[in-house]
Amino acid sequence: MTRVIPESTSSPAGTPPAPKRPLPVSRADTFTESVIREMTRLALKHGAVNLAQGFPDFPCPDELKSAAGEAIDADVNQYAITWGSKELREEIVKRVKTYNGMAFDPETGITVTCGSTEAMLASLLAVITPGEEVIVPEPFYENYGPDAILSGAAPRYVPLGDDLSIDEESWKSAFSKKTKAIILNTPNNPSGKVFSKKELSFIADLCLDYNVIAVTDEIYEHILYDGHKHVSIGSLDGMQDRTITIGSFSKTYSVTGWRVGYALADPDLTNRIRKIHDFLTVGAPAPLQQACAAALRLPASYYRELAADYDKRRKILYNGLREAGFACELPEGAYYIFTDISESGKTDVEFARHLIEKAGVAAVPGSSFYHDGGETKLRFTFSKKTETLQEACRRLENAF
Ligand code: GLN
Repeated sequence: MTRVIPESTSSPAGTPPAPKRPLPVSRADTFTESVIREMTRLALKHGAVNLAQGFPDFPCPDELKSAAGEAIDADVNQYAITWGSKELREEIVKRVKTYNGMAFDPETGITVTCGSTEAMLASLLAVITPGEEVIVPEPFYENYGPDAILSGAAPRYVPLGDDLSIDEESWKSAFSKKTKAIILNTPNNPSGKVFSKKELSFIADLCLDYNVIAVTDEIYEHILYDGHKHVSIGSLDGMQDRTITIGSFSKTYSVTGWRVGYALADPDLTNRIRKIHDFLTVGAPAPLQQACAAALRLPASYYRELAADYDKRRKILYNGLREAGFACELPEGAYYIFTDISESGKTDVEFARHLIEKAGVAAVPGSSFYHDGGETKLRFTFSKKTETLQEACRRLENAF
């Protein structure tokens, strides 16, 4: 969790900065701004191809655009019900039943949020009493660190092996009476790991033994390769009433800026999440909720094509990175390639700066995904048009 490249803060020549009393300390001082978002600003500044922040540069499906336009034309402009429009909740619950194998009552088991980002923070705020421990498998999506801090949790990081395997003994020893929750993310950002049913069963047993709640971020659930299958830990025996399953429209339908996500949980947990959500944001954008309900009516072929298109993009970037000298593996899911740059002799931050300024490609320094470490890694996204990826690969030829 490092800040990448500090912007200049010097004042114009000749005007010495006015002395300023330091502000009293704040919890906001205990973490840095998002490195991922910062890399996007730097990419724009340097005219670099942005393979840092995970968002598509291609359009979303026409069905979503017309549904959003129709909603605005029909004056769906005021607040939806705070926990989500009835239509959207019903469509999500239907899809979750068939795709994830979990049953929820749309009236009591779901909260529509401003993206999965809000869903994760609202869930942790709903679950954690300050001081309790939250297990965070490492590497992790960078938001989880600040999310844990903001909710008052003490994060306990559990590393995945170099081959992304689970070392059962170290996971067992991380769980204790102090553990309140575990944050899972499958398919995983940044590693691309798709947790198997066997691994999730092992984690579920620990949650049951230690009375732990699983908060699981499954926003890449439809972006899977090579026959990998998505399993929701909440669908495993005994987990239904101790799991908060977080989903989103951002990645599946290429609408990251719409900010519509959701948290599914049993009624007691949902009550708490809804209260927090209400005071955080009141609700997600109403016309876009209507368009997201339309998204859920897309045919099954949409999801097959989504995964097949991402598979092609995955291979273009993978080949480009390998040819340029990056050590990497093909991810099992999601849309990132997590590379090893040890060969370069540079740190992740140095290498990211070099790439953006000299090669014109932005990536995310690996240390953003570790509480301590990750300096030999760099993350690239392939959520971009083929032409964008080809241009990035051409630029990467002189990366080392
Ligand atoms: N999840 C995406 C990523 O990891 C986008 C993050 C964000 O900025 N919301 O890049």
